[in-house]
Amino acid sequence: MAVLEHLTSQDAMALENRYGAHNYHPLPVVLSKGEGVYVWDAEGKQYYDFLSAYSAVNQGHCHPKIVGALTEQAQKLTLTSRAFYNDMLGRYEKYATETFGFDKLLPMNTGAEAVETALKLCRKWAYEKKGIAENEAQIVVCTNNFHGRTTTIVSFSNDPVARKNFGPFTNGFIKIEYNDLEALEKALESDKNIAGFLVEPIQGEAGVYVPSEGYLKGAKALCEKHNVLFIADEVQTGVARTGQLLAVDHEDVKPDILILGKALSGGVYPVSAVLANDPIMEVIKPGNHGSTFGGNPIAAAVAMAALEVVKEEGLAENAERLGQLFRSEMDKYIATSAIVKLVRGKGLLNAIVIDDTEESETAWNICVALKENGLLAKPTHGNIIRFAPPLVMDETQLMDCVRIITETLQGFER
Ligand SMILES: *Cc1c(COP(=O)(O)O)cnc(C)c1O
Repeated sequence: MAVLEHLTSQDAMALENRYGAHNYHPLPVVLSKGEGVYVWDAEGKQYYDFLSAYSAVNQGHCHPKIVGALTEQAQKLTLTSRAFYNDMLGRYEKYATETFGFDKLLPMNTGAEAVETALKLCRKWAYEKKGIAENEAQIVVCTNNFHGRTTTIVSFSNDPVARKNFGPFTNGFIKIEYNDLEALEKALESDKNIAGFLVEPIQGEAGVYVPSEGYLKGAKALCEKHNVLFIADEVQTGVARTGQLLAVDHEDVKPDILILGKALSGGVYPVSAVLANDPIMEVIKPGNHGSTFGGNPIAAAVAMAALEVVKEEGLAENAERLGQLFRSEMDKYIATSAIVKLVRGKGLLNAIVIDDTEESETAWNICVALKENGLLAKPTHGNIIRFAPPLVMDETQLMDCVRIITETLQGFER
């Protein structure tokens, strides 16, 4: 089989099923092209993408400026490792730290690696700056978190599917309820060895749980009071998705450690980063941490272009405006609906909750029907459907999508 020979969707799915590990359960659609808010399947059918690769493609598919940066840099220099300097990394680090307001950036590739980096940085800071005795540091996390898939990260997940038979697990994590300031206060007061609080400003994978207003600000204040680092995992919520550059910006909160990934590259290349100010980042010394691909010149060029697009095209403002429109249109539908309980979210990170059990097939079947009608979305936790289109969408397209979604839902009303 020639590499570029045309494959039907059936062929492509058969190949993945036969030769690929079954660690995902994809919707039965095979994509072969993307542009802006649209993707096309192998037979040429067009769809609106309402997942955006889990919010990695905020800037839209194959954004010409980002792809241009990629192809230009790919023809000049791709990888040097950090054994040497390269002439793109520093430029990108300056641009990104100025954009997000931190002294320094540590470059990695995937979201999970950036979370791991933040955990290591937090622990090292705790031993060398806060004065916690070695191996005693604890990091507070929230129930129903999603921070990635490494053995340490699944150690503090409470999703049985993500954990079962992957033990033994890493120690040093205390789990509290999300959106519960009292629980955080209690944890911080009852243990002197707490180094950090790792939190998603909105729990995306858990089903787009938006905490109460004031939660992030309150949590930051509690962390400050107890000399505990506030670590924001903005891998999914960051880079304009929720209607601000960062989701913590809604509450004017400045994290001590910021974790970015996904849309940091516009979905063009795996690029993640950890940002912090000098008093924290300076505990990392040569040899303490690294990555062969982290900070490579392609990643640097791509991420810089991806952040420029966010600013030049006003993507945060667009996400805020269209998000409000989307939720108000969905609320109109929900007022008369028996199967949709509610819509929630911020900016263009939204979800609807289907009135059925987590074990039911309803949300999956709705997503299959949406696909037939030209819109791609994926259920999370059985009865929740996340709606997160690229932020380059315009109002006409959004209203067309609202029509597709509501007409599809009508077919499931009882
Ligand atoms: C996707 C995600 C991650 C993990 O990113 P990968 O690139 O898949 O490793 C971590 N945290 C959050 C909040 C995410 O949404």
